[in-house]
Amino acid sequence: MSVLKAEGVNFDFEVPVLVIGAGACGLVAALASHDAGETVMVLERDERPSGSTSLSAGLIPAACTQLQKAQGIDDSPELFAADLVAKTHDRTPHDQALVIAKNSGPMIDWLMEHHQICFELVTDFLYPGHSRLRMHGPQSRTGADLEQALLAAVERAGIDLIAGASVEDLFVDKTGCVKGVRFRRRDGALEVLGCKALVLACSGFAGDANMVRRYIPEIADAECCGHLSNTGDAVKWGLDLGAALADMGAYQGHGSVAHPHSLPLTWAVITKGGILVNAEGQRFSNEMRGYSEHGAEVAAQPGHVAWDIYNSQGHEAAMQFHDYRSIHALGAVKIASSLDELAHLIGLPLSTLQAEFDAIAQLARSGEPDRFGRRFNEVPPLQAPYYAVKVNGALFHTQGGLMVDQDARVLRENGEPLPNLLAGGGAARGVSGDSSYGYLSGNGLLTATTYGRLAGMMAARIASGR
Ligand SMILES: Cc1cc2nc3c(=O)[nH]c(=O)nc-3n(C[C@H](O)[C@H](O)[C@H](O)COP(=O)(O)OP(=O)(O)OC[C@H]3O[C@@H](n4cnc5c(N)ncnc54)[C@H](O)[C@@H]3O)c2cc1C
Repeated sequence: MSVLKAEGVNFDFEVPVLVIGAGACGLVAALASHDAGETVMVLERDERPSGSTSLSAGLIPAACTQLQKAQGIDDSPELFAADLVAKTHDRTPHDQALVIAKNSGPMIDWLMEHHQICFELVTDFLYPGHSRLRMHGPQSRTGADLEQALLAAVERAGIDLIAGASVEDLFVDKTGCVKGVRFRRRDGALEVLGCKALVLACSGFAGDANMVRRYIPEIADAECCGHLSNTGDAVKWGLDLGAALADMGAYQGHGSVAHPHSLPLTWAVITKGGILVNAEGQRFSNEMRGYSEHGAEVAAQPGHVAWDIYNSQGHEAAMQFHDYRSIHALGAVKIASSLDELAHLIGLPLSTLQAEFDAIAQLARSGEPDRFGRRFNEVPPLQAPYYAVKVNGALFHTQGGLMVDQDARVLRENGEPLPNLLAGGGAARGVSGDSSYGYLSGNGLLTATTYGRLAGMMAARIASGR
């Protein structure tokens, strides 16, 4: 991954807008450039585009959409931005959060109206930290369906996408203007391609173990459930170009990945009253703090595993998720009609488990917070039948990256934008603060799609000289 001098390079041909990466960010950017009247091409490393987008639940938070209005939900960009910033404990700048919040609703409406992407508003579950119902996703709640819908829209628009094309080098002139790229085909052949504007939509660095250890040591020993083709190339090129980086310690972890199946168990089971216990049967955290910060927390437990224990309400809420149905079908969900039976089934000491349940029952009556700060009087008490899934902690994707402005232009360390370089999604600094706890549900796809659209529109303006 290098930045090379553009002088003297003869490009095989040139496209006005070039996009690296065919996840949600790259595909949305391509559609936006196309709609702005520019010819655009997408280069994707994998033979079959999928990205971390396909691994996600496909849910995008957005404010003031037509779907929200139809349900009478009174959301606003200001409220959404306040939720984003609050989750980070003020570690994400408010103006950046507001740019994302303001552009999120129009982005969803545009994808629905102009590109026939079908979204539903999730109305049966308020995600923690979101003060309004604002999660939009495919009916299946799978990122794979979102990715396929975006790929179909790109194909309908007649946009060229070359799969199996791994971009290795950027060619840049003395002013910092990107003149083109060199990419490697699956058979090893190298090609050079010129461009007038370049969108970095090649996501973060979860797939580069050395970068994870350097920037986020706390999660370096946990399982990586992210997309392994995301090897931090945007950051590597950005460093060579003198671009500013920010929040490199930010990431989405997950403290509830079914083990050894490597499928995420929705946190809905926790918000419906569920708990986490370690291999000794002890609770170890306030589970309501969120799933992301529990990635490192669970990875630090004995044997690096824990058990999610929940009741039938959690089970029913989870059944709407494809991943949960798979976990269930694989036999990973253990069901017991008493605590005694549960302890036997999952091999935990009954006495410790019983003590935890007794303490919870007492806290539910008193309304007092537990030793970690969680209150149990706001949800129905855990009752048989009990459900349990063995889980580990994992890294899903990184949220730190290139600093961008309100048009998704990559910024130099002095705050000036580079002439024709845009970034979004996992390649850019997100709105999740600088650690794991700032990740509000949906932040990944939020910045992928919202910055993706902004980047595509701006790339088209740059390419056309407007
Ligand atoms: C298990 C899991 C669950 C998640 N759940 C959610 C969720 O429910 N909601 C949410 O909002 N977010 C979720 N996320 C995060 C979300 O998926 C990502 O934030 C989002 O998809 C990022 O989109 P992207 O387009 O930036 O990156 P990606 O979708 O990862 O796409 C990047 C693409 O760039 C390609 N690429 C990389 N380098 C190169 C190169 N040099 N040349 C060519 N191509 C390259 C990659 O192959 C990849 O296809 C989840 C992530 C994971 C892993």
